[in-house]
Amino acid sequence: MEISFSGKRALVTGAGKGIGRATALALARCGSEVTAVTRTKADLDSLVQECPSIKPVCVDLSDWDATEQALKDVGPVDLLVNNAACAKLQPFLEVTPDQFDMSFNVNVKAALHVAQIVARGMKARGSGGSIVNISSQASQSALRDHAVYCATKGALDMLTRVMALELGPYQIRVNSVNPTVVMTDMGKIGWSDPEKAKSMTSRIPLGKFAEVEDVVNSILFLLSDKSAMTNGVILPVDGGFLAC
Ligand code: NDP
Repeated sequence: MEISFSGKRALVTGAGKGIGRATALALARCGSEVTAVTRTKADLDSLVQECPSIKPVCVDLSDWDATEQALKDVGPVDLLVNNAACAKLQPFLEVTPDQFDMSFNVNVKAALHVAQIVARGMKARGSGGSIVNISSQASQSALRDHAVYCATKGALDMLTRVMALELGPYQIRVNSVNPTVVMTDMGKIGWSDPEKAKSMTSRIPLGKFAEVEDVVNSILFLLSDKSAMTNGVILPVDGGFLAC
C-alpha cells in the first residue's frame, strides 16, 4: 500500500529518538513537510543533519507556557503525532508526587495542549486533519511498577475518544496506536533484563516485541486517507497481547 503525504504538513512530538524520530523521517520520506519537536537540541541537530528538510523545534513539553511560545509560529499542520512521553518506573507504594506530575504533564497534558494548538488551526482553515496519539498496551493492562505510566496511557486513550467525538464534525480524525514493548531507549529501561523480557514475550501470541517500523507503519496508516473513516480507534500494535 503506497502512502503519500505530498503537500501535507506534519508535526511530531518526541521526535529526537525512538518511535518519534523514525516517524518524522518516514513522514518526510513520504513527501510531508515535517516539524520535529523535542527537548534535546543535540537530537534535533542530528535529525536535521539526517534529513535537512525537517524543521526543528526545541522545547520541554512539560512546560505549558514554553510550549505555547515555541509553537505559536509553527504554521498550518495537517497531521499531528503526539508521541513524546516519559516512563519512570516505581513500585506503587513509592510513587512520588513529582513523578506523578511530570508524567501526566508530558504524557497527557502536553498531548492535549499540542492537539489544541494544532486543531484550532485545522478548524479555522476548514481543511480537516488527522491526529495520532501514541499510547501503549499499558493503557489497558496492569504492569508491575508502571502505576503512573499505565494511568497516563489510560487517560490518553480516553482523551483520544473525546477528541474524536468533539473534533470529528470538523473532519479531524483522532486515533491512537498502542504498542507492546519496543526496544527503544524507553523500552530498554523496563525490559532489557532477559528474564523480564521473557515474562512479557511469553504473553504475546506472536512471541516477540514490536519493531519501531511496526509502530511507524500503523501511525502512517492512521494519518493517511487510507483510514479516512477510522476515528476514535485505539489500535493495538502488540502481537495479540491485549486479545488474551
Ligand atoms: P524514547 O524514550 O526512545 O523517545 C521519547 C522521545 O520523547 C525522546 O526524543 C524524548 O526526548 C522526547 N520527550 C520526552 N519527554 C519530553 C518532553 N518533556 N518534552 C519534549 N520531548 C520529550 O521513547 P519511545 O520512542 O520508546 O516512545 C515513544 C512513544 O511510544 C511514547 O509515547 C511511549 O510511551 C510509547 N510507547 C513506547 C513503548 C516502548 O516499549 N518503547 C511501548 C508502548 C508505547 P529526551 O530524550 O530529550 O527526553
